[in-house]
Amino acid sequence: MSGERWVTETLHDGLRCAFRADEVIYEEETEHQHLVIFENVKFGRVMSLDGITQVTEKDEFVYHEMMSHVPILAHGNAKKVLIIGGGDGGVLREVLRHKTVEKCTMVEIDRSVVDMCVEYLPMISAGAFDDPRTDLVIADGAKFVAETDERYDVVIVDSTDPVGPGAILFSEEFYKNAKRCMAGGGIIVTQNGVPFLQGDELTGTMGAFAKLFASRSCYLATIPTYVFGAMALGWGSDNEALLDVPVEVLQERFAKLEGETLYYTPEVHKGAFALPPYVKRFMG
Ligand code: SAM
Repeated sequence: MSGERWVTETLHDGLRCAFRADEVIYEEETEHQHLVIFENVKFGRVMSLDGITQVTEKDEFVYHEMMSHVPILAHGNAKKVLIIGGGDGGVLREVLRHKTVEKCTMVEIDRSVVDMCVEYLPMISAGAFDDPRTDLVIADGAKFVAETDERYDVVIVDSTDPVGPGAILFSEEFYKNAKRCMAGGGIIVTQNGVPFLQGDELTGTMGAFAKLFASRSCYLATIPTYVFGAMALGWGSDNEALLDVPVEVLQERFAKLEGETLYYTPEVHKGAFALPPYVKRFMG
């Protein structure tokens, strides 16, 4: 239809996925990337960076719950959490629901993403940036992990895909430095794309984790707008037992979480690590 605007995702060669922008709410070429926030009839408000869907109002709960509750409930006593990226504030919101968390440092490279998401996608962060436990740092996450003296129980790499400023967050150097700032027995989880089309990224991360951690794996979550299959979330830790916390223990810890979840349950947590052979083959 003439006059309609479609925002097309071009992440995968030979494939396109388009969302009709019923209203463009905000658009900017920031210092780091092209940012668009628009309204879509099915997914509500949507944010795209460099033509890649980052977060939508209607399905954000899947990814943000699974990126946060799986490592924190497996850990059992996470006091300090580090988020690399995560500019929309969804992971931060979920992390701060845990009473054990005393401090959450979020290192986001692009101030515009934070500011525009607070203004135009406020339901995602839901006030998390104003929580006294939030320590927002506007910087390159790769530089931060190389230099910080802080140590974290859980590190969550909520990055864009390995394009533009996000590319460095898939490097061995970054993972080595991320390990450097993990407390003993800590856990790192990573956004590792849709293995059906981005299996090489998972292989790269798992290869780096094999050199750095006593145990590595990935777990799956199905996010409707991360298209073309389930998404893999990478996992690394020196405490192998954390990969196999009994569901009863997870249930006990989960019962202390305030409010409802829409995707995460202890049973979904356990099931997410049951990997189909086509994913396992990317683990190296
Ligand atoms: N959930 C989304 C996904 O799975 O693709 C990612 C959401 S979040 C918007 C990704 C964030 O990573 C963006 O705000 C982007 O600015 C940030 N980012 C990219 N490269 C970065 C870097 N080197 N250091 C810190 N943040 C970075």
